[in-house]
Amino acid sequence: MKDKNNLYILVEFPYPSGSGLHIGHAFNYTGADVYARFKRMQGFNVLFPMGWDAFGLPTENYAIKMKRKPQEVTQENTEMFKKQMKELKYSFDWDHEVNTTDPEYYKWTQWIFVKLFEKGLAFKQEMPINWCPSCKIGLANEEVVANKCERCGAQVSRKKKSQWIVKITEYADRLIDGLKETDFIEKVKQSQINWIGRSEGALIKFGDIEVFTTRPDTLPSATFLVLAPEHLWVSNLILSCSRPSDDCARKINFEAIKKYVESSKKKSDFERGELNKEKTGVFTGLCAINPYNKRKMPIWISDFVLGNYGTGAIMSVPSQDERDKEFAEKFGLEVINEENLTKEEASTYGQASTSYHLRDWIFSRQHYWGEPIPMVNCPKCGWVPVSEKDLPVVLPELDFYEPTDTGESPLSTVTDWVETICPKCGGEAKRETDTMPNWAGSDWYYLRYLDPHNNSSICDINKAEAWMPVDMYIGGDEHNTLHLLYSRFIYQFLYDIGVVPTSEPYQKRISHGVILGPDNQRMSKTRGNVIVPDEMVAKYGADVVRMYLMFMGPFDSTMAWNEKTLMGVKRFLDRFSSYIEQSKTSSVSNKNVDIVVNNLIKDLTADIEVFKYNTAIAKMMKALNELAKEHITQDKKDILCALIAPFVGDDKYKEWPIVDSKILNDRVVSIPVAINGKVRAKVENVDLAEEAVSKWLDGKKILKRVYVAEKMINFVTN
Ligand SMILES: [Zn+2]
Ligand SMILES: [Zn+2]
Repeated sequence: MKDKNNLYILVEFPYPSGSGLHIGHAFNYTGADVYARFKRMQGFNVLFPMGWDAFGLPTENYAIKMKRKPQEVTQENTEMFKKQMKELKYSFDWDHEVNTTDPEYYKWTQWIFVKLFEKGLAFKQEMPINWCPSCKIGLANEEVVANKCERCGAQVSRKKKSQWIVKITEYADRLIDGLKETDFIEKVKQSQINWIGRSEGALIKFGDIEVFTTRPDTLPSATFLVLAPEHLWVSNLILSCSRPSDDCARKINFEAIKKYVESSKKKSDFERGELNKEKTGVFTGLCAINPYNKRKMPIWISDFVLGNYGTGAIMSVPSQDERDKEFAEKFGLEVINEENLTKEEASTYGQASTSYHLRDWIFSRQHYWGEPIPMVNCPKCGWVPVSEKDLPVVLPELDFYEPTDTGESPLSTVTDWVETICPKCGGEAKRETDTMPNWAGSDWYYLRYLDPHNNSSICDINKAEAWMPVDMYIGGDEHNTLHLLYSRFIYQFLYDIGVVPTSEPYQKRISHGVILGPDNQRMSKTRGNVIVPDEMVAKYGADVVRMYLMFMGPFDSTMAWNEKTLMGVKRFLDRFSSYIEQSKTSSVSNKNVDIVVNNLIKDLTADIEVFKYNTAIAKMMKALNELAKEHITQDKKDILCALIAPFVGDDKYKEWPIVDSKILNDRVVSIPVAINGKVRAKVENVDLAEEAVSKWLDGKKILKRVYVAEKMINFVTN
């Protein structure tokens, strides 16, 4: 059982790029750090770790350009990040630091892969990869921009390659159902559900073509079928027609089909889906039969149907579906509108089935800077995992690690590394040369933080029991879909094999906002509007930068950098320290001071709990104004310093102040109640205001109520 006093606060670990900590990092980490410090002061046993998600393309590309080793570049970058984090006074538990590129760490990333393989959840299959015909390299999805190679701008095509696939679809239902156990904010839950895209429907057979439809009841109005260009039936058709003896070539539109299928290979799913404004397609020349009314249904091929959704074939009902209607209109196909079937009738034509948008996960990358996939290919035994005792399979340090022009990983050129012994039969065998995707290391890092140097298990189960699930996970919107999904999947899998105590890794997930440049535009080098945290810290000090970042606006909103506001925060902090240091300390308490201070404790405790940092700081500023005229006791000064400590990163104060509720309860505030600005009565309870002035309101309509907290309530009437 998790110790109730243990609180695990997690913030997404960065990719240590050469450009150092950017302002978005600083915003996110400061927000998390304020929360961690606040919770520590409240007496929680807080774990607040940090690490490095350091494999991947940016480092590899940078290293290639600079002709250096990615290992060295990574070390330099992490050192720089760490230094910057320390300058910003982040209270990370550095004893728990992890780096995904450490063999000590990726031993267990590889171990997870072996377990997936053993459970039948990882297998090899031919899949298309993005291929740049000009650079002659396989490209990761993130290197393809608008279907063009990010490096050279050439049109990207697909090339088939045998790749490792991880069967995440096996967990599709659990990844939806498991959300019930979490307290994720609604938009995060929704992005998970949408990505998985579960839809209930039926499989209906039209001869040898099977379609998936969510509306089997519309079968009577279905007038044609549309197949994805990569549908097996289409491939078979092309194959059968390319045999000269076959006479079907006369019947079907062979050349046009072949041309169409070829051209659609160049398009990404994205272009075929959301971007597909103008419908294209080709008629095969063949027809199927509608099992309900025995009408002939022309069979078309179009790339708006994706090969990997449902069965890769749909029945079109142009009278009831907008997309089908567009297609029918463009190609002059029949539109009929018959009465829909009842649920019972529909079930006799098709078998109930569930379809998902979620695809299995392509786990191979033909790049150097990643975890080697710990598999060996033996001519006798097939694919065999590397034995646990031989993990990690260490990524060999190379002088040359640029992508090869065959599309194979650069590791394929390291003959003495590739050639190995089969773990099963001891015969000659070859290592897998593909590496893992960047996600692999970030799927489970939160678990390794608990036990970063354990060499005999992924994480001591007692430690996992004491800390999991993560109480609060703070990160960016951009990771609410894939990172969260992949990491939840891996964790659910680890739960199934008995190495973690809970089925979900994160209890709560919140996402932070975005900081724009002073010109209200996204920061970018080309726009010249980049704010560098380092420079700001050097200029104003970490206290000011931290406090300003948290004052900019609500933690989850989009805000523009504003130096004027920053200067306002700086003035406040200056006034605050001179008030603490220079104002006369009184030896007797003052009722007004007591009230202001206790209210501040109450408000800040509530605001910080829900990440309302900007309002918390505004209240501090207001309180300082109110206190400026008063003499206060040393213990009240200490309270004020403790309240500001999480924001400025002050380690001196160990306890979060507690409200003296007696002071707040004893006090009676009477609030003037006015009508159109003229005070008519005073009340102690705002809810009674209208009643108190009812005789002056008689016959008038209240147009507006203006309430200035604890100062005045005013009714504007006609
Ligand atoms: Zn290229
Ligand atoms: Zn073997």
